[in-house]
Amino acid sequence: MTKFTDLKLDARVLQAIAEAGYETPTPIQAGAIPHALEGRDVLGIAQTGTGKTASFTLPMITLLGRGRARARMPRSLVLAPTRELAAQVAENFDIYAKHTKLTKALLIGGVSFADQDKLIDRGVDVLIATPGRLLDHFERGKLLLTGVQIMVVDEADRMLDMGFIPDIERIFQLTPFTRQTLFFSATMAPEIERITNTFLHAPARIEVARQATTSETIEQRLIELTPTRKDQSSKQKRELLRALINAEGDSCTNAILFCNRKSEVDILAKSLKTHGFDAAPIHGDLDQSQRTKTLDGFRDGSLRFLVASDVAARGLDIPQVSHVFNFDVPSHAEDYVHRIGRTGRAGRKGVAITIATPADKKFLDAIESLVKREIPRGAIPEDFALSDAAQKPPRPRTEKPGREGGRRGREDRRERPVKPHNEVAPMQALDVEQIEPCPEPEQPKTREPRREDRREDRREERRSERRNEGRKGDDRRDRRRDDAPVIGMGDHVPDFLLRGLKSSEEV
Ligand code: AMP
Repeated sequence: MTKFTDLKLDARVLQAIAEAGYETPTPIQAGAIPHALEGRDVLGIAQTGTGKTASFTLPMITLLGRGRARARMPRSLVLAPTRELAAQVAENFDIYAKHTKLTKALLIGGVSFADQDKLIDRGVDVLIATPGRLLDHFERGKLLLTGVQIMVVDEADRMLDMGFIPDIERIFQLTPFTRQTLFFSATMAPEIERITNTFLHAPARIEVARQATTSETIEQRLIELTPTRKDQSSKQKRELLRALINAEGDSCTNAILFCNRKSEVDILAKSLKTHGFDAAPIHGDLDQSQRTKTLDGFRDGSLRFLVASDVAARGLDIPQVSHVFNFDVPSHAEDYVHRIGRTGRAGRKGVAITIATPADKKFLDAIESLVKREIPRGAIPEDFALSDAAQKPPRPRTEKPGREGGRRGREDRRERPVKPHNEVAPMQALDVEQIEPCPEPEQPKTREPRREDRREDRREERRSERRNEGRKGDDRRDRRRDDAPVIGMGDHVPDFLLRGLKSSEEV
């Protein structure tokens, strides 16, 4: 078995690894590091959790060990699709480079340009960035990429998902042809293959087992619920979820709870809080400081339940997560693997519990065929019973007089999706677990979320995630869209139409 000391890494890197407690390199590390140290391009097909961050960071630190950075000309560049992933790479870099004098800068949206400019002006060895923010700096003339000797593209399939590939191509073209490229992707979609064929030179291809197989350390359970009313399906699932969390008792030290849609993430987090659970949401629409605060709280144990969307949580490395709950069955089978892989990391035990309704059958079949096994069926907790309220028609949202009512009204309007694609109309569902009795209204027609609706929601999440990356261009485009003149009269009523009419005698 390969040892780290066999890998010709810098002694200072080896010391940092030993201090981090790593004993043997993971397969992607053992495969990629020797080629990277020889200066070859590397195509790593690996997911998070495989140790891939160290597989590019360790050789980078070793290779950059000699030489000095010049102002505004970083010597290496790491591109990551989201702020959180970029920040995670930066944290890894700090751990592995702690005995060196190498400098780094993190360029992500939501952080002031001025502070980032100052760092770049001083000269950095390693620049870690999201593609949009990097191009913003470049376009402002604050950054030159002609000194980049090593370029890393991390989570390329996710970049593709989020529409970043044109940016990546542009960045490739801005860096020297002679650069060394370390390129990582969990899957090789045709578009990714095309990019690697274009921009990588005779890469060493290292593929580690795809995580279609879910880790043996994760105990999986599927809890089937047949809602007694379709229009109360979400509420009934929330009640079941609380019972499931309670049934886990103290073994559930913390958990990530996944929903398919951002609106549901908010509703669930709010509902859990109402019921005394320590929960907070994370998704692409929340502002960066809030996302960071929530994640930090979850990491340091001060927050117990993180309610998340796929896009916001994918790739996050939080080592000690005891449980994952799928409040919704994911509509993309691979997301199931990603989601449950948030627990049972680094050899620890984890529990992944999925709530499924008959409407999820198609998605469930796809997941079971991907992971090539049936997810063991678990029992609904014995003492679980649906509340009366959850079995009655949802109450209509009554506009309460006074400030509180008005404020909620505005929030609700903002939350309301364009299409009625929720099982429970969002405004009603937002009215979480109210206890006052209410008249039973005639029900609006609701329907099961269609596959296209879920897809659209996912696309929307990616769009907003991209917007949140602080892409100046996109922001500008969005603003233009908001300010665009209304076709026809719209809100603007020409002045002459508002003037009083005079009779012909008066004229
Ligand atoms: P990554 O796939 O880069 O997100 O890494 C997943 C986790 O594995 C991180 O928490 C790393 O700190 C950890 N890790 C990386 N390499 C090793 C190793 N050789 N031995 C033990 N843990 C590792």
